[in-house]
Amino acid sequence: MKAHDGMYIGGEWRPAAGGDTIAVVNPVDEQVIGHVPAGTAEDIDTAVRAARAAFPGWAATPPTERAAKIAALRDVLVARKDEIAETVTAELGAPLQFSQAVHAGVPVMVAGSYAELAASHPFEEKVGNSTVYSEPVGVVGAITPWNYPLHQIVAKVAPALAAGCTVVLKPAEDTPLTAQLFAEAVDEAGLPAGVFNLVTGLGPVAGQALAEHADVDLVSFTGSTAVGRQIGATAGAAVKRVALELGGKSANVILPSADLAKAVNVGVANVMGNSGQTCSAWTRMLVHTSQYDEAVELAATAAAKYGDRIGPLVNAKQQARVRGYIEKGVEQGARIVAGGPEAPREQGYFVQPTVFADVTPDMAIAQEEIFGPVVSLIRYEDEDDAVRIANGTVYGLAGAVWAGEEAEAVAFARRMDTGQVDINGGRFNPRAPFGGYKQSGVGRELGSHGLSEYLQTKSLQF
Ligand code: NAD
Repeated sequence: MKAHDGMYIGGEWRPAAGGDTIAVVNPVDEQVIGHVPAGTAEDIDTAVRAARAAFPGWAATPPTERAAKIAALRDVLVARKDEIAETVTAELGAPLQFSQAVHAGVPVMVAGSYAELAASHPFEEKVGNSTVYSEPVGVVGAITPWNYPLHQIVAKVAPALAAGCTVVLKPAEDTPLTAQLFAEAVDEAGLPAGVFNLVTGLGPVAGQALAEHADVDLVSFTGSTAVGRQIGATAGAAVKRVALELGGKSANVILPSADLAKAVNVGVANVMGNSGQTCSAWTRMLVHTSQYDEAVELAATAAAKYGDRIGPLVNAKQQARVRGYIEKGVEQGARIVAGGPEAPREQGYFVQPTVFADVTPDMAIAQEEIFGPVVSLIRYEDEDDAVRIANGTVYGLAGAVWAGEEAEAVAFARRMDTGQVDINGGRFNPRAPFGGYKQSGVGRELGSHGLSEYLQTKSLQF
């Protein structure tokens, strides 16, 4: 794998301030596939200065010209999609087909949607005797996780650029090669120097320096709730804008009128995709007591089919964490009907696709984000009970409802304390706002709501 030994700052690859590096490991065979520089506060400061210097020019660039540059970036992502998929597969371990369809495919859709939105968004509106201007917030510090390496980057950088902001990105230490590839794409697309800058490094060093930098106007973070809380507190103390995309424990609610087999099969597939490393995964399957045993059987059969088809987890720490949760589920009285805590292979960070039955809402596996291929089936007595269970965690990121009639599912979805719900399966919409209720986060990504995060408004009265 190709790895740059410098940082992309001010439109060029520059040597890092320090000499430390981070090893990038392939989670399938545990081999080191490259090294990237471990950035320091000094690199972050250089990158923020470059972003600040580029800001007035980019903010003053007409939105249609910004749109054209984002469209050019999308075109480069399309042209280099095979390389992107191979890189994500190498550092995340996802099967190549999944990387091609999702890891390389979705960012193209999102970049394309922001090329359109940059051109069509009303940056200037008349409201009675006022003119309201939407202006870019300024320099954005973006901190991203490894689970959807390119999507997480594009979901922040594309709207920031559309708004007229400039960006410093600190990507996850597990997947920096995809971030370097993105920086190459930005360069190839001809974005002005300093509009996008990349500093690779460790979270508590480079990430923290970026979150704490006085000249960053907005911090957009996706990752764990623990780090998000810390970043929110830092931003609060400095009175600066913050957007947080955190964890989830989403409920997949199957109402008795639904097509049970379809709902269970799609539900299991939803969790197994990306080996369960999806913040919006429907990890709790809620089934009416009258259909519970049948659903358990269907889910166990569905999960067993994933045996060899899912990739490993991203690293040894995540593997140990997920296996620990499976053991905890057993300790607390849940019943394994597929998979289990034993590692399925000697090499690689693999975990078995696992289904738990007899899960009660208070168990750790029903409350905490596992971030692995683990589904918990919970029974409910009636609709009010299902609402109580669905809403009974600190999270509220996503969810699903299945019913015979769409209206019935919609009525249930409106009672859920969560940011996004798929009705009878749903379909990905790159323009639909994505983000959390409760401790799943602050703010929204994607679509015009995602764009608004990077804008501030000024009104002039006449
Ligand atoms: P994390 O929160 O530690 O890392 C996410 C990003 O934040 C990375 O770029 C990391 O370098 C950076 N970071 C870490 N500490 C930081 C700090 N003190 N200041 C600034 N930046 C910092 O997440 P993780 O360890 O990679 O994963 C742990 C758990 O987080 C997972 O098991 C999962 O529950 C959750 N997670 C959620 C999402 C999501 O999309 N919501 C994505 C990945 C992980």
